[in-house]
Amino acid sequence: MPGAMYSFFVQWHLTERCNLRCRHCYQEKVAGELEHQEICQAMEGIAGTIQGWRADYGMEISPSFHFTGGEPMVRHGLFPILAQAHSLGFSVSLMSNGTLISEELARRLATAGVRDVQVSLDGLEDVHDSIRGKGSFQQAVRGIANLISAGVETNINLTLSRVNYDQLDGLVNLGKQLGVGAVAFSRLVPCGRGEELADEVLTPAELSDLHAKARALNAGSKVEVACSDPLFSVTGIPGEVPQIDFPVGGCAAGMFGVTITSDGSVMPCRRMNLVIGNIKQQSLRELWADSPVLWALRDRRSYHDGCESCYYWAVCRGCRAIALASARSNGQEDFLGADPQCPYHKPRG
Ligand code: SF4
Ligand code: SF4
Repeated sequence: MPGAMYSFFVQWHLTERCNLRCRHCYQEKVAGELEHQEICQAMEGIAGTIQGWRADYGMEISPSFHFTGGEPMVRHGLFPILAQAHSLGFSVSLMSNGTLISEELARRLATAGVRDVQVSLDGLEDVHDSIRGKGSFQQAVRGIANLISAGVETNINLTLSRVNYDQLDGLVNLGKQLGVGAVAFSRLVPCGRGEELADEVLTPAELSDLHAKARALNAGSKVEVACSDPLFSVTGIPGEVPQIDFPVGGCAAGMFGVTITSDGSVMPCRRMNLVIGNIKQQSLRELWADSPVLWALRDRRSYHDGCESCYYWAVCRGCRAIALASARSNGQEDFLGADPQCPYHKPRG
């Protein structure tokens, strides 16, 4: 639509190496890494794709790179990559475990123009350390404090399961003390090492309770309690949901961004673990236009066993990564079935 602003992100896993080994990590094995020059070329190609979309469709596009890992702070040449992304006109965010961010590195991130850093905390000290390793909580909190002192907008990220869903209040209080902007939570996707926690995923009723609690915590709080999960947003939608067969919101996979992994593989979402090409061989423009996986994600008629008949489809579609992980646990390669944690299905009128 001419004149409309369209946000587009690339979540880029610069490395799969990490100084921690978290129980719920979705990485299954450590893959190779692109060379620095390959990353720079790919970033230029992506900038060209976005320029092309702007010119061809008259769109206003706000592009961003979300750099992560593994742990992005262990990637050599990180700061020149951040500088290049910034100079190409991308807004730059970092997703980190926070444990390696010293005062000096926090100042360098501020100077590099990083818009925000999301630091993962999976609960207060005992719970976090039981998931991410002893001592990691204190190191992460020190990293957050260093970022805030350096003037970098910092948010806490929490991956929720039965192991830690009672930790949200405590983390919001901690976030207030530290001065973070938001505490954001997402659902555990039972894939990678997270498969070991498959019995800990929340039931639909528990998820619905959690959403109600998060809304109550958010009301009047100076720290935003945020969640980009489509299932969190559906119940707060003002007005009517358009009854169309093309997405206008909800799950970002196939619509609002892509993931690039450390070896250049491109996926609709890192948590889906479904490779659609490689940025070394194909342009983003080609992949975005030609991938059958991405087109299936965009088409209501591809869905089955739930979302296709739902009033909220255009603004939700659930989490396709969780649908895929659930199907894979039954030996099926299917990312278009029901989101097994959904408590909100509402038939189309
Ligand atoms: S069935 Fe649930 S997950 Fe699917 S679109 Fe409806 S509310 Fe969203
Ligand atoms: S598949 Fe799940 S984690 Fe990935 S963009 Fe969609 S809702 Fe988010």
